Amino acid sequence: MRSIVLVAILLLAGVSPVMGNSTAQQPDIVQEHWYHSYLTLTLDVQAWAEDYPEIVLLTVAGQTELGKNLWVVQISDWTQNTKPDGTQKEIVYIDGGHHGNEHLGTELAFLTAEYYIEGWGAGDQDVIDVLTTTEIHILIMLNADGNDIDTRWNLNQVDLNRNYDHYWNTCPTTQPGSSAFSESETLANSNYMNTVVTDADLYVTMHTGVWIMLYPWGKWPDQPSDWELFHGIREEVHTNISDIPIQNANQGLYPNCGTSRDYGYGVMGFPTFTFETDDEQWLLGTIEPLSDRLGEELDVMKYLIDNVWYWRARLTIEEITIEDDVVNFDVVNDGRASTRNATLQYLNEETDEILWQSDNFTVNITSRISVSTNGFDYDNGVWRLSYQKRIINSAQWVNETVDESLVSIIKVEDDSFLLGYGLFNPLSMIMALSVVAILKPELSEVETSE
Ligand SMILES: [Zn+2]
Repeated sequence: MRSIVLVAILLLAGVSPVMGNSTAQQPDIVQEHWYHSYLTLTLDVQAWAEDYPEIVLLTVAGQTELGKNLWVVQISDWTQNTKPDGTQKEIVYIDGGHHGNEHLGTELAFLTAEYYIEGWGAGDQDVIDVLTTTEIHILIMLNADGNDIDTRWNLNQVDLNRNYDHYWNTCPTTQPGSSAFSESETLANSNYMNTVVTDADLYVTMHTGVWIMLYPWGKWPDQPSDWELFHGIREEVHTNISDIPIQNANQGLYPNCGTSRDYGYGVMGFPTFTFETDDEQWLLGTIEPLSDRLGEELDVMKYLIDNVWYWRARLTIEEITIEDDVVNFDVVNDGRASTRNATLQYLNEETDEILWQSDNFTVNITSRISVSTNGFDYDNGVWRLSYQKRIINSAQWVNETVDESLVSIIKVEDDSFLLGYGLFNPLSMIMALSVVAILKPELSEVETSE
């Protein structure tokens, strides 16, 4: 019944006239009910690039096994290379269509792009704010060959979402390919991650199968080291937006290895979700308009994109005081990810040589700590804060210059100098040992691994 009505709608809408017109998108009634083929997607993304050159750059990440282009829509206010304050824009990476029979996942990737592009065109201030500060890269249809014949597999009968180079073929699985990245689609996707969006603070890969959002790992039942980040997002989504289940992939679904999600997190260090938008597979269209059907899922995407700034550690030094050779400082984390192995460093500006650095410290999500380390006896250098964006080993390092004006030097009484208050003075040594003793519980946490 459902498919008969659908065919009637599509006949009324008239699909064929669209094909010849390269500057117009599909009429809304087609877009809302008929899932994309490679051809209609190509027409739509080309029309976006033509109609909105200031915010849409259309690029190609590579080709499918059959030679179809892997279109990536890059959406941002491209008239500015940075945010208004001169800092680097946040980066979001999204892909859809690993499995050619999971059309609603592909359509959510398309709708996400459409929301930001059309919102910009309509002057929506929220959208303008996002595109002024954020780059959104969307590879809408990865398995274009499989999509057009409505099959899960690619041309070589490989499950693309088992073909990534992260514990490839180490789970009970079917059709992972002859080796990691044996397929042109997955190889192209990983190249894009490794060359264009290496700094992404959000990666969402879109599928259908069960209505659920999955965070790493698929390989292990254990929670990932950044579990606080994922649990925090789950809490906010459930409180404010949607009841969609959000779970570790291994427990929420089943053990799976070589997925783009585990690769995105485990190798690239991105906060990553698999967004399973629906339980529908193998249908080519929908009676309920797509924007209604996927409205709640799009709201979740808007939340994840709006808040991308928070999906990493964001450390700021509040003040530094130096008393004799002891450096004291307060650090605040405004991000929603924790960091370990952070240090405050003092460098020779010309040679970049680290002259002194604090003991390693840990800063949990949205918290403040005080650190005290001795052995400082330098000048003419610059201060730098060095830390990982997230706890996972593959997370990127951040090296931020610390403003010199935060430093204040507390002069000691002349008497102290008479006591010989140097680095190897017995009193200094006692102080140094007690600082190490205080920090010891934190140092032991440093030895983490995935
Ligand atoms: Zn899938």
